[in-house]
Amino acid sequence: MSSIVRLRFAPSPTGHLHVGGARTALYSYLYAKGHDGEFILRVEDTDEERSTEEAMKSQLEALDWLGLRWDEGPDAETLVDRGDHGPYRQSQRLAIYKKYSDQLLAEGLAYYCFLTDEEIDAQREKAKGTVGAFQVESPYREWTLEQAQKRIDAGENAVVRFKADRSKTHYQFKDLVRGDVKFPSDMVGDFVLLRSSGMPVYNFCCVIDDALMQMTHVFRSEEHLNNTLRQLMIYEALGFQIPEFGHFSMILGEDKQKLSKRHGATSVQQFRDRGFLPDALINYLALLGWTHPKEEEILPKADLVSSFGLDRITSSPAVFDEKKLTWINANHIKRLDKDRLWGLLEPRLKAAGLELPTESTWIEKSLQVFSSYLETLEDAVSLYQPISPKHFDIDAAADQVFEWDTSKSVFEAWKSILSATDSEFLSEEQFVQAQDQVKESCGVKGKNLFMPIRVAIIGKPHGAELKILVPLVSKSELLRRVDLVLAKA
Ligand code: GLU
Repeated sequence: MSSIVRLRFAPSPTGHLHVGGARTALYSYLYAKGHDGEFILRVEDTDEERSTEEAMKSQLEALDWLGLRWDEGPDAETLVDRGDHGPYRQSQRLAIYKKYSDQLLAEGLAYYCFLTDEEIDAQREKAKGTVGAFQVESPYREWTLEQAQKRIDAGENAVVRFKADRSKTHYQFKDLVRGDVKFPSDMVGDFVLLRSSGMPVYNFCCVIDDALMQMTHVFRSEEHLNNTLRQLMIYEALGFQIPEFGHFSMILGEDKQKLSKRHGATSVQQFRDRGFLPDALINYLALLGWTHPKEEEILPKADLVSSFGLDRITSSPAVFDEKKLTWINANHIKRLDKDRLWGLLEPRLKAAGLELPTESTWIEKSLQVFSSYLETLEDAVSLYQPISPKHFDIDAAADQVFEWDTSKSVFEAWKSILSATDSEFLSEEQFVQAQDQVKESCGVKGKNLFMPIRVAIIGKPHGAELKILVPLVSKSELLRRVDLVLAKA
């Protein structure tokens, strides 16, 4: 086995990358990188009905976006393999699996089985009510290869079944997360390695690939524990060295059920689209089942790599808490330098159709004002919207303000004070002063003062804090707005 630490992430391309999968990938990546090791990506696409090229691309893209770059595996963009242990897509390794299946058949450790589905169903029916899990009893278990070959040559279909070692009472291994794990070996009977179509099953491919790709550690979710028993049997039969296993607990929704679509966003892409930063997402996912030695919570990727270890992994299930993720995201946003932040916000603001000034001083000023309010990048859209000329309209909620006798004089005073200022943008102080002047000249105060001013600036009597907003809207735009309001008054 390799002396270098090697871990892989082995997604099945049947959908988008789920945050649970992303966490498994992250832990494998962090462990590999923290040990100067290698992180490998392998695509488990032997389920022909459920695997798609599109899902594969989407998963690679999501991993790449998260920054979990792999040393070996298909390139995220070109899909061309990189590394010495390829191909990395199982659908391109069928000849390899066939070779090992032939080896097991030749050694009498596997056999061709001709049982039909109906015959197996009948066995299952008969076994109902008996203790223990149902196991297939194949009459072909002791057939010679020659006997079987004759039937295959005659055109019959057969699966290749693993011949479970009935002399063994149990299988045991030391899990890096869960400690000693012991399985009674009769938990599984003779299981299928190759379907009658010749397609190998997950457990078989997984063992062969993990061995040939020289994995030193295999991390995955605890849902796979039962597979690990079958895999241990296959390792033994093929004489491969067994890697170290670590099975992580599940991620649950707030109702303590397995995290699924009905809990809301679950795929990495959904979080990306909603404006989460990749570093924030991996920071949060790292903490879903692991704690930092000093219990720090805002952790840049480099700190995750240097501090991650299995000793602080919990074996109890973790509950996905979107509020905490959002808090972590806001913290990562605050740490971004302003150019980078604008680079991330600008496309979202454009996509939302907002028309905003483009001068760098304006951009800087807007970020000074807004960045501390951003919990996600997408929040920028509602924060910047009141500035966009195209998005100004007079809301129905402003109707009551138009009914007050004093409102018109407030609009007019605001307009004349605004016209008299000589700068293109009012400062916060200038705006506060202007409000005082309106108050003096009209003799109104309280809501009769503030609500009409608000309507003249944002078109509605409630919402965005004006002191913050006004310095970001040009004088000419403010004048255009008050004119629209006056036309209605
Ligand atoms: N393709 C399997 C899955 O997506 C991988 C399990 C493993 O890591 O062995 O669940």
